[in-house]
Amino acid sequence: MSAIGNIPVPINEPILSYAPGTPERTALQAAIKELGSTVTDIPVVVNGLEHRPGKTINITSPQRHRHQLATVHQAPAALLQDAIDGATEAQKDWEHWAFADRAAVFMKAADLLCGPWRARMNAATLLGQGKTPHQAEIDAACELADFLRFNVHYAERLLHEQPISVPGVWNRLDYRPLEGFIYAITPFNFTAIGGNLPTAPAILGNVALWKPSTTAVLSNWLFYQILQEAGLPPGVIQFVPGESATVSDVLIADSRLAGIHFTGSTPVFHQLWKRVADRLDQYRGYPRLVGETGGKNFILAHASADVDALITALLRGAFEYQGQKCSAASRCYIPRSLWPRVEEQLRAEMAMIKMGDPADFSVFVGAVIDQRAYNRLEQVLIAAKADPRVRIVAGGKCDAREGWFVEPTLLETTDPQHQIMSVEFFGPILSAYVYEDNQWDEVLTLVDSGSPYALTGAIFAQDRRAVVEADKRLRHAAGNYYVNDKCTGAVVGQQPFGGGRASGTNDKAGSILNLCRWVSARTIKETGNPAKDWRYPYLG
Ligand code: NAD
Repeated sequence: MSAIGNIPVPINEPILSYAPGTPERTALQAAIKELGSTVTDIPVVVNGLEHRPGKTINITSPQRHRHQLATVHQAPAALLQDAIDGATEAQKDWEHWAFADRAAVFMKAADLLCGPWRARMNAATLLGQGKTPHQAEIDAACELADFLRFNVHYAERLLHEQPISVPGVWNRLDYRPLEGFIYAITPFNFTAIGGNLPTAPAILGNVALWKPSTTAVLSNWLFYQILQEAGLPPGVIQFVPGESATVSDVLIADSRLAGIHFTGSTPVFHQLWKRVADRLDQYRGYPRLVGETGGKNFILAHASADVDALITALLRGAFEYQGQKCSAASRCYIPRSLWPRVEEQLRAEMAMIKMGDPADFSVFVGAVIDQRAYNRLEQVLIAAKADPRVRIVAGGKCDAREGWFVEPTLLETTDPQHQIMSVEFFGPILSAYVYEDNQWDEVLTLVDSGSPYALTGAIFAQDRRAVVEADKRLRHAAGNYYVNDKCTGAVVGQQPFGGGRASGTNDKAGSILNLCRWVSARTIKETGNPAKDWRYPYLG
């Protein structure tokens, strides 16, 4: 085909309601039943072939930890080496595909995801990662489809970004993929991020080895099958679940490592960066390191805040998906004049939150992801109970009999430097510090310097002067900043996501800024009628 097709302008995938009586509710319930009554066998996929090399891990449900959902095979070193060889071989063809053909694969994947695969993807995210129907829908269906469609659209815009030419000369930028492979390491908490990290570079002709998180591997495996059904050629994205240490040892040691696309915790990203730095002189180029990492996200209330809006933002921001969103609110600063009302309302509303198995659609909060997370959060609560500087305002209990349940908890401390105000817990624990109304200036400094992270943050104020002051003083305190809204729920195409400081490289997933990291442009100057005399006129 010799046409230059325009990529359809994307719109955000509409969120289905799952209200009683809707067809999506019936479909999701059926998919939960079906997926929940089988043990899925998840292979390693290299060059389009499924491998079952022997060593396996059992995958269980966070809300029912005796319920086995899947068995996942672990890629051994030799197979990982084959995966690198196969991917670099596949790139020789893939990078020369017409952009329209590459784009078509990912646009088709989005359509398959939102159509025939939607219920299964949401069911896998609910069963495997403990999300409620709404949380699964906004992640595994809508955000992932948005990533695919918007990235294709942004990639097209990037390709159109061209230098000027002058008469007789045609200048072009050739957006080459990086030479080598991308190591995509994905977290448990968003199915959408799982799908985005290997596909964003691939849209631009890169090849990737995708190491999914063990605790998200069921939904990630379903998405990999969608990519295959959409026509992704073998070898372009190799699906390599495995032990982190083994996978990293092989991939980081290879001279063809061209980039790491990571989302996860700050310590792991530090480790990866250091290991790459140690081997720098052995790589063909400088590997691009893109990492979106931890957070200790704030909600700051001014004395003029609308309290009802503030309460809703605190509840949704801190406790949806059990506080396991990277953007979740985990520290808040409330003025003394508002605190009695805020405390009372939060306590009353928190008493109404239903915790349990999200397969029961009346549940708002599910279980935390695994035993490791449960133990960590339980320790935080034990320490809080014994600490005279901390008061448990609401919640504080844990229960691991059926699933990894940690109650939504509100802590209050009189010490703004206390570690409950600075350490990322990654669970349903919100810490509060009550400041004196006349210490607005001091509290802005506290919010800015209170934690090493700078991912998301929100200010609630009706007084415009307070909004303006906070905007200036908190400019570097968050990469996603909200005024009178909760600090979670960024939408692809609307609020490009990422933060600075210890929260990552802030390359804004699902935006043109992220895609820029996966190209290495070549400048081409072509001259129609080149000079044929070396002497310049001034020489005469
Ligand atoms: P994690 O760091 O434990 O794991 C992330 C991924 O890294 C997983 O696939 C894991 O298996 C892998 N991993 C762990 N050690 C590794 C190693 N040595 N080499 C290679 N890979 C390794 O994080 P998680 O528990 O999956 O996710 C939670 C964290 O992710 C939180 O800190 C959260 O704030 C962060 N997060 C950030 C964003 C963002 O956009 N900033 C988004 C989602 C999650």
